Amino acid sequence: MFDNKERTEIKDLGEFGLIEHLTKAIELQAPSSIKGIGDDAAVLDFGNKKTLISTDLLLEGVHFDLRYVPLRHLGYKAVQVNLSDIYAMNGTASQITFSIGLSSKFPLEAVEEIYEGALYACKKYNVDLIGGDTSASKQGLVISVTSIGYADEEAIAYRSGAQEGDLICVSGDLGGAYVGLQLLEREKQIYLENPSIQPDLEGKDYIIERQLKPEARKDIVELLAENSIKPTAMMDVSDGLSAELLHICKASDKGCKLFEDKIPLDPMTYETAREFGLDPTVCALNGGEDYELLFTIPQSDYDKIKGNMDITVIGYVTEAAAGCSMISKSGNVYPLTAQGWNAFQG
Ligand code: ADP
Ligand code: MG
Repeated sequence: MFDNKERTEIKDLGEFGLIEHLTKAIELQAPSSIKGIGDDAAVLDFGNKKTLISTDLLLEGVHFDLRYVPLRHLGYKAVQVNLSDIYAMNGTASQITFSIGLSSKFPLEAVEEIYEGALYACKKYNVDLIGGDTSASKQGLVISVTSIGYADEEAIAYRSGAQEGDLICVSGDLGGAYVGLQLLEREKQIYLENPSIQPDLEGKDYIIERQLKPEARKDIVELLAENSIKPTAMMDVSDGLSAELLHICKASDKGCKLFEDKIPLDPMTYETAREFGLDPTVCALNGGEDYELLFTIPQSDYDKIKGNMDITVIGYVTEAAAGCSMISKSGNVYPLTAQGWNAFQG
C-alpha cells in the first residue's frame, strides 16, 4: 500500500537522523508533559491525579495486512486503539510513546506516512508524542504504542464495578469493523487473482472506515462527565461485545441479560453482513475492533442518557448465579459465550 514515488533509504539517514526527521515538528501541548523526546526518559507531572498506562503491540501479518492497509491509516489506527484503552478507564489520554521496528523494504517516505497518521491522531485527541524506540526488524513491520493518561481516583471505571440491576450500555454501533474487514479481504483475494480488477468498495465507506480508521470514544467519556455519570464498570469493545461483556461480568462477579434486538447495528453493516451470508448479530457479538465503549450505569442514571443517539441500553446486570445470556429476537434464551459462532445460528 505504499506507492513508490520517491525512495530515500533509511540507512542513509541512520537511526538518529530518522528519529530527528520524524519528530522535529512535534511541539508539546499537554500541561502534564514536562519533557518529551530528546533525553533518556520523558518527564510528566499529573499533580494529584492517578496515572493510567496501556500498551499495544502491532505485528505485520498478525494484526494488519499491508496489502490493503494504507500506512497513514495504520499509524492513525495504532494510536486510536491505544487511546481507547485510556478512555475505557474513564480517563483522559495525554501522551503516547511510539516505537517502530522497520524492515529494509521501507523507505523513509513510508515511515513518514505512518508518522503522519500517528501525529494526526495525536493532534486530534490533544495527545503529545513524547518518545519511542526505533529498530530494524527482520520480521516485517512492528509498531508498539504506549498511551498515558490520568483521572481522578473516584472517576476511574474498572471492569469489576458492575452492580446487580445496572443497565448495560454501549456507544455507537457494533459489527461494522468486522464486516469491513470481510469486504477488504474479499477484494484482496479478487485482486490477487486478477490485479487488473479495481476494488469494488463503492457505497461501503462507513464499514471500511470502521475497519481502517476507528475513532476512540473520548466524546463519550466527556459526555458521561458532563451528565455527572460515573460508569460502575467500563471497557472498550476490541474483541466483540460478547467477550467484553463476559469480562465485565466475571470481574464484577455478576451475570447479565443481553437483548439481541437492542444491539445497535448500522444499516450498512447489516446489509453487507447479509451479503456475506453472515448473521449481523454474530458480527456484533464476536467481530471486534469496533472500539466502542461498553459500560454499566445505575438505573437511577437512565434519565441522563435517555434519548442520546450515541448510547444504547442493551441489557442489564443480574446476580452471578443467573449466568450470562442473550434473549434472541424470537424470545429464546442463549448462553453468552466468547466464541458464539454456532450458538446463535438458526
Ligand atoms: P536510547 O538509546 O536511550 O533508547 P534513543 O536514541 O532510542 O535513546 O532515543 C532518543 C530519543 O528519541 C528518546 O527521547 C526517545 O524516546 C526518542 N525516540 C526514539 N525512537 C523514537 C520514535 N520512533 N518515535 C519518537 N521518538 C523516538
Ligand atoms: Mg532507544
